[in-house]
Amino acid sequence: MKFFKHINKIISRAFYPENLTCAVCGNELDESRRDGLCRDCSVPFISSCCEHCGRALENSTQKFCEACLYIDRENDRFDIARAPFRYADDSVHKLVWKLKYGNNPYYAKIMAAKMVEYAKDLIDSCDCLTYVPLHPIKQRKRTYNQSERLAHYISQLTGKPVESLLRKTVYSGESATSLGRKERSDMIRDSFELTCDVRKRKIILIDDVFTTGATAGECSKILKEGKASFVGVLTYATSDGNKPATYDPSDNEKKFKKFLRNTV
Ligand SMILES: [Zn+2]
Ligand SMILES: [Zn+2]
Repeated sequence: MKFFKHINKIISRAFYPENLTCAVCGNELDESRRDGLCRDCSVPFISSCCEHCGRALENSTQKFCEACLYIDRENDRFDIARAPFRYADDSVHKLVWKLKYGNNPYYAKIMAAKMVEYAKDLIDSCDCLTYVPLHPIKQRKRTYNQSERLAHYISQLTGKPVESLLRKTVYSGESATSLGRKERSDMIRDSFELTCDVRKRKIILIDDVFTTGATAGECSKILKEGKASFVGVLTYATSDGNKPATYDPSDNEKKFKKFLRNTV
């Protein structure tokens, strides 16, 4: 009997690995943890956020983050952006990086469920989902686009169609995560184009993480120039609203590479 249980576990793990072990730390999950994360790796949703860009705020009386109040919003062409979690939380950025670089596309399913739970009304108010595209060279290297996977699972959960509305036309190297907002904006400017007519459409743009907001801003700009009537941005994680200018994602990158060497 014990033998059959063991075999059953091996088979289940091959087909549904996210249901048996925590996606972040790899520890066994008990029956009550159906969302793929153990108690230690689960964090609460962002409770207070900037009304425009969705960055996390410590003070619930604050309406807008520092970036939206003081920094030039010329590139923030989206109508609203939201994310359920803070990228600065350890387990959150580890899961984002595991999806992006750890060759774990099925983790997108766990993340999509949280995004739908947090932003169901926003998704319901739109016609379709789209995602931040990768340049074909980058997609070949990574084998899949993590944002497309997230959009695909969100579509499964909500019934909203996913459409490839954008194309990346300029290859910008492997990673831009260590760059600041200005450098990142300069690098991706005019590097996306529309694949079809988006006039009068209400669109949700899906991505994994919102850091400087430059990528979301540039994609939204293209969609708005194509006369989309509404562009909402939904990501799994976002930066902190009180320190977006000083936040350095490259610190996380160094920590994550060490973490990945130890766990994968
Ligand atoms: Zn865990
Ligand atoms: Zn803001």
